[in-house]
Amino acid sequence: MTEKILVLPGDGIGPEVTRQACRVLEVAAARAGLGLELDMGAIGGASIDAHGEPLTDAVVAQARASRAVLLGAVGGPKWDAMPVTTRPEKGLLRIRKELGLFANLRPATVFPALAGASTLRPEVVDGIDLLVVRELTGGIYFGEPRGRALVDGRREARNTMVYDEVEIDRITRVAFDAARRRKRHLTHVHKANVLEVSQLWMEVVDEVAKDYDDVELVHQLVDSCAMLLVRDPARFDVLVTGNLFGDILSDEAAMITGSLGMLPSASLGEGGVGLYEPVHGSAPDIAGQDLANPLAAILSVAMMLEHTFERADVANDVRGAVTAALEAGHRTGDLVLDGEERETLGCRAMGDVVLAEFERSA
Ligand code: NAD
Repeated sequence: MTEKILVLPGDGIGPEVTRQACRVLEVAAARAGLGLELDMGAIGGASIDAHGEPLTDAVVAQARASRAVLLGAVGGPKWDAMPVTTRPEKGLLRIRKELGLFANLRPATVFPALAGASTLRPEVVDGIDLLVVRELTGGIYFGEPRGRALVDGRREARNTMVYDEVEIDRITRVAFDAARRRKRHLTHVHKANVLEVSQLWMEVVDEVAKDYDDVELVHQLVDSCAMLLVRDPARFDVLVTGNLFGDILSDEAAMITGSLGMLPSASLGEGGVGLYEPVHGSAPDIAGQDLANPLAAILSVAMMLEHTFERADVANDVRGAVTAALEAGHRTGDLVLDGEERETLGCRAMGDVVLAEFERSA
């Protein structure tokens, strides 16, 4: 059976990094015995230029008919002056919404060869391999009522944090399932000493936990979690939390690794189509020069293999190839530390090295 993958390279370095990711996807799929058909589509500025809007209905339909979407990045100065409602980023928001992607998975892993890139001491970052599972479609970013008003002559603004038990249950299951494939440890991050919403999360998470008695569960206050992430990040395996806390903590966790070009992500939904994309943006400053680091996009392919195709074995082969490339001393420009003397590889050459390491591991 042939599985359809929709590739949306987007703008800036998006096409460069997704090209290398697709090369890896093709060989990894062959190893996994998966028949894949890669279709291309436009999103962001590329779609605005071609079709006058950041995402067309046709591409949405294409995405819905696919098993997974691999996305590069969107945006750039060319479209910065456009009204907010029609900018490239709207394409990204729309595809996430259309696919009902409620779970955002952001791993933060420190590759030993890159431990020096972290602002934290090497002994603190040693062994960091955590996953933040963030609820993406609910919470305070979407709750009603919201808005601004003039009350007694004073400007006032209001947002509402609201979750129902179904939203909490489904994201919690995603997190427990992920923990089961990892070190079987889940941290639920909350503010239940102040927020009723967090108290409901506690209740529902505890109820779901009964179905996962092989996974150890810890409830952690968000403020102490933020401290622990910089003091002792290696203690964490999977973290699950709502949209607001997850937004902040996933960036905090990402930055302790020190390398924006190394961070993949997955967004999963009820429709069964997963969206995989690097965390970084379109990097207009280096676009079109073969300077981009393709490893975040390649590691996003590993996440696709793990989560959409349930082939953690081949996903680990891809991660192993990335690790081996780094251990062998290969670096794109962004991975070279200040003061370090090192030859650098371009985007395509880094793709070549990872492919060679992947083949070697056969
Ligand atoms: P950015 O992530 O594009 O770049 C930040 C810095 O990191 C730049 O110096 C860039 O050269 C470098 N960098 C990023 N990815 C790299 C890679 N793979 N290899 C080497 N270097 C890399 O963030 P920004 O500069 O704030 O935003 C640029 C554009 O990207 C904006 O239009 C922004 O809206 C958009 N953006 C898109 C996404 C997305 O598509 N998911 C995310 C963030 C920003």
